[in-house]
Amino acid sequence: MKISGRMRKFFKNPTDNEWNNWQWQIRNRITTLNDLEKIIRLTKDEKDGIRKVLKEYRMAITPYYASLMDEENPLCPIRMQAVPTIYETHKSKADLHDPLAEDRDMVAPNLVHRYPDRVLFLITDQCSMYCRFCTRRRLVGQVDKPRKAEELEKAFEYISKNKKVRDIIISGGDPLTTSDEHLEYILKRLRMIKHIEIIRLGSRTPVVLPMRITDNLIKMLKKYQPVYLNTHFNHPKEVTEESKAACERLADGGIVVSNQSVLLRRINSSYIVMKKLCHLLLRMRVRPYYIFQCDLSEGIEHFRTPVSKGFEIIERMRGHTSGLAVPTLVVDMPGGGGKVPIFPNYLISMSENATVFRNYKGFISVYQDPVERDCSCETEKDFMKDPVAHSPDGLGHLFDKRKVSIEPKE
Ligand code: SF4
Repeated sequence: MKISGRMRKFFKNPTDNEWNNWQWQIRNRITTLNDLEKIIRLTKDEKDGIRKVLKEYRMAITPYYASLMDEENPLCPIRMQAVPTIYETHKSKADLHDPLAEDRDMVAPNLVHRYPDRVLFLITDQCSMYCRFCTRRRLVGQVDKPRKAEELEKAFEYISKNKKVRDIIISGGDPLTTSDEHLEYILKRLRMIKHIEIIRLGSRTPVVLPMRITDNLIKMLKKYQPVYLNTHFNHPKEVTEESKAACERLADGGIVVSNQSVLLRRINSSYIVMKKLCHLLLRMRVRPYYIFQCDLSEGIEHFRTPVSKGFEIIERMRGHTSGLAVPTLVVDMPGGGGKVPIFPNYLISMSENATVFRNYKGFISVYQDPVERDCSCETEKDFMKDPVAHSPDGLGHLFDKRKVSIEPKE
């Protein structure tokens, strides 16, 4: 990467080897107002705001990500994601300390079990950059270090004992801020558990620290396949030669990469920005997977949009571009109800034999159902004893006629 003049000056002529070394980038993160104001221009009010926020929340910006910030414009989408503002000190009435009730579903230290067949494993509280809108801001950056091996032992124990768990999401913090050796130790332990089918990593490093995606890392991950990686691009400006190369290295290494954006007011709250981003993602073999409605975490209301904005974005993308480019809009329900997808309604009506739909342009037509309606599958019985494939809970009670109603319990 060509190092820009202002970064060269600030870091006193780093060598290419230093700049392209992820550990150097982490060691040299911008963490103080004093350093930040040497890189971007800040007004007195902005500086006062940052000072106040830093009393409560950590700031850390990789030199690479800082090099993408506009020096002058506070509305630069990179800058808005990385630089604290006074708005973070405002606690709204809707704010929640733990909006997704993860602490309630913590079954062992660092392990959240909410959905039947998958768990969330928080192996570090360190991130290469602390995003200002982070949903887990109550936890991240407290010690800014990976969890030690012994701190993860109870989580391994729980996962080994729970045969329904087939999918592990390794997150944090950002799990790729840990060393290859420590990460390999965790992956090896997980792969020793027979019922674990897939491993997913949630990492923003391809966006904020693309030099982390080294050949050594990929060589190591390949030993523990199937491994998936969910990353987090929010804006087309984040798609650079470096981030593109990182995503392509992962894809070439056989790691399937998907993207989860957060809908952020005045950053990507536009169908034009979002469509451009999704097209760029596909070109570097990253699948647009989710757009998350921004959570109700404390001090981030200024980033939130009305739910209708996401709805409008999907309405203006679906059909107007390839389906592969349209992510699913998701609200993670406050209070720990989990993720719910929301879609514009394309189904207008249904009768006994026919369903009426509309398309993205308002074209309306009917789909006639077939005469034969027996949908039972001969092979279903082969999987009835599989506790994960056969899940009779929830609406299954109604479909299987074991109940006529389900009532929410307080
Ligand atoms: S990288 Fe993820 S976990 Fe870390 S601060 Fe950003 S959003 Fe939060």
